[in-house]
Amino acid sequence: MMENNMGLRGKVALVTGAARGIGEAVARQMAQAGASVVVADVREALGLSLAAELENALFVHLDVGDEVEWGRAVNQCQSRYGRIDVLVNSAGIFHTAPIADTSLALFERIVRVNQTGTFLGMRAVLPAMKERGGSIVNISSTSGLRGNQNSVAYGASKWAVRGMSKVAAVEFGQYGIRVNSVHPGLIDTPMNHEEMGHDRIREVGASVPLARAGRAEEVASVVAFLASDAAAYVSGGEYTVDGAMSAGVLRSRFSAKSTQ
Ligand code: NAD
Repeated sequence: MMENNMGLRGKVALVTGAARGIGEAVARQMAQAGASVVVADVREALGLSLAAELENALFVHLDVGDEVEWGRAVNQCQSRYGRIDVLVNSAGIFHTAPIADTSLALFERIVRVNQTGTFLGMRAVLPAMKERGGSIVNISSTSGLRGNQNSVAYGASKWAVRGMSKVAAVEFGQYGIRVNSVHPGLIDTPMNHEEMGHDRIREVGASVPLARAGRAEEVASVVAFLASDAAAYVSGGEYTVDGAMSAGVLRSRFSAKSTQ
């Protein structure tokens, strides 16, 4: 699909959280478009089997909250491919709880992966990317655009991802490095299966303006576009992939009359 027109052929992409879910879909689409992909994750078995399946891929064990592991992952990528053109920060964890029930330990655990992990990743690839420019795509959430109930820690981390993406876009522009954030809504991935279960995903999906949950591939195609040369002048932006979930309030699907 993207083979000819997306400008990813020959690029080297490091994708975090690539063992499953959105990261996996990103890794698959990029490999299909001709990029070499570094599959980075803490889930070794899944990550190794994905890397073995893809055309030109390498698995690296990476806990994104660990500064030392970032150094090692970037070195492994450099010694195998000699460059890094794309970083996708998709690794993330999700847990819902009211503010009153959010322990400091839970808050810090979520921030460590989602927020600190994204910061460390952008900083770690900078020296390599500076040489020829590149693209960084950070996966935030609709929770990084508004205040969703029961997600104080997750929301804090995702607002931070959105904000840090803009700071990096401003700082890194001089090196030809573009930075954008992507804001998925309700996406049918293992993360949501574990947190909500299949029936609840369908139930909540029905309340989305597009009347369903999204698929990981539908997020991945936006990420692939932002990573590619087709988006050469796109930086500092935020892109929802949420079926219009964050566009407004759907009062009644079947009522044509305005209530206000
Ligand atoms: P997922 O749980 O299916 O996949 C996340 C991956 O991240 C897993 O492979 C996991 O092993 C990895 N990971 C977790 N902690 C890590 C760490 N410390 N270091 C490295 N890898 C780690 O989740 P997903 O639904 O694919 O979510 C991907 C991203 O999209 C996350 O940042 C998430 O917050 C965001 N997001 C998801 C949804 C959704 O509805 N699924 C919505 C909005 C945003």
